[in-house]
Amino acid sequence: MSDTVETQLFINGAARPASDGGTYDIFNPARPSELVGRAAAGTPDDVEAAMKAAHRAFPAWAALSYAERAEMVRKVAAAITQDMEEVEARARLFTREHGKIVFETRLEISRLGERFLQCANYADRLEQDEHIKAAPNDTIITRQPRCVAALVVPWNWPLVILGAKLPQALMAGNTVVVKPSANSALAPAMTLSRIAEMLPPGVVNIVTGSASRIGDAIIGHPLVRFLNFTGSVDVGRHVMKVTAENITPVTLELGGNDAGIVCHDADLTGDVFQRLYRASFMSTGQICYALKRLYVHKSRYDEVVAGLRTVVDAQVIGDGLLPETTMGPMNNAKQLKVVANMIAEARAADQDVHELGQVPDQELYQNGYFQRPALVLNADVSLSVVRKEQFGPILPIIPFETEVEAIAMANDDPFGLASSIWTADTQRAVALARKIEAGYTFVNAHGPSAMDNNGPFGGFKKSGIGRNFGYEGVTQFQGLHSIAGGPGMIL
Ligand code: NAP
Ligand code: MG
Repeated sequence: MSDTVETQLFINGAARPASDGGTYDIFNPARPSELVGRAAAGTPDDVEAAMKAAHRAFPAWAALSYAERAEMVRKVAAAITQDMEEVEARARLFTREHGKIVFETRLEISRLGERFLQCANYADRLEQDEHIKAAPNDTIITRQPRCVAALVVPWNWPLVILGAKLPQALMAGNTVVVKPSANSALAPAMTLSRIAEMLPPGVVNIVTGSASRIGDAIIGHPLVRFLNFTGSVDVGRHVMKVTAENITPVTLELGGNDAGIVCHDADLTGDVFQRLYRASFMSTGQICYALKRLYVHKSRYDEVVAGLRTVVDAQVIGDGLLPETTMGPMNNAKQLKVVANMIAEARAADQDVHELGQVPDQELYQNGYFQRPALVLNADVSLSVVRKEQFGPILPIIPFETEVEAIAMANDDPFGLASSIWTADTQRAVALARKIEAGYTFVNAHGPSAMDNNGPFGGFKKSGIGRNFGYEGVTQFQGLHSIAGGPGMIL
């Protein structure tokens, strides 16, 4: 496989190279010497042009009715998955630049389309103002778009995460400047360009490039009236400092260290171990709301370990383009090292570490950024794999005696993104969920394969500020505006 692609910026309705002609190379994480393509290395001048284009396009876009914007958003939704051959080619390119298996890259593209459609369907509800009739004023509470929104996404699920921001920002009436991650820019930039060219010039602008060169130029730009960022806590903290200068409102979706609690009465039949496996190991564990700590009632501990171990050990680790592969490499050497260090620390502490799965091609495995899926049994809760976000294929499993103890362990963490309760008693699940410090709790499931996008999603504590998805995911891109008049004047 030697074809390489080149992607461009997209500003003011047209594809263009970086202002200085610069590009950067993206290599295949399964075969790090294989060049997959070159993305345009945007410059601060390109950011300036993108911001100005978005600002110019705003009044006309904002002046459209929700129904008119919904019609365009629906057309985009249909176009994303219209040409199956193109989707397949893009998914394969995406796997080559990212590492994740092609089943997942196809899923990213189709989910993006679904999320556009879902947002278009909020049009009628968005149209409604709230009316208050009470002396001394009658009040119309309306919402208006913020203007230019900057959207910054990480490498792990770039299109799915854009699906939580981009159609929402557009339906709300904003124009946008998008910055994909340097680590996965080719398929995202191609897909976004297709979307941008279907909309009026300047409504969607795309600037690829390294954060060190253009990051602050985007997040600190005075024309940005709203910033929606997904990424790490460290960069999120930096974003808050930079945006403080312009008092730019932010939504931050940061990391997670999600706990799952398996109760004494959990139903461990059917596909439960497949669900637990996917919860933790989908995308080679590189998911913000993957299951990252599993607490199991001591009466079911051996059963859970045996069942999960069997499923994990059956996984085939290799090149994500091969049909037999069920787990690809990690995306990059830096993240691989984080996980390797956690495994080394656990082994040095004499922990019960099991690196599992089948590796048909040892040479590939040694040369790429691969890590076999691992379980750490009876994990000591002071280990990094428990205390920190692993963002990779390793899961600590910890027994508990009482639900009070399980909730206390789940909440003893600086993050509060998602969580899960596994029980046959759904009332118990809801009661326990209410005690968890997290923005989302799944019942008998966890992670992207169980996500329906209807509820607002986001974190407590260091997992972030604000919510994406759902109706609230659209209205975050708007500001409230009260219009008041004396009795009978306006209502
Ligand atoms: P990251 O290093 O924080 O980067 C996220 C994005 O921010 C990338 O596009 C990055 O660009 C950009 N960036 C970095 N510095 C910037 C700056 N000064 N100004 C503007 N943009 C800047 O995170 P990552 O390593 O890509 O992703 C992994 C992390 O994201 C994990 O902690 C994970 O939990 C979190 N995450 C959270 C969610 C959620 O919904 N809560 C979802 C997915 C991932 P470059 O890539 O070009 O450096
Ligand atoms: Mg952890």
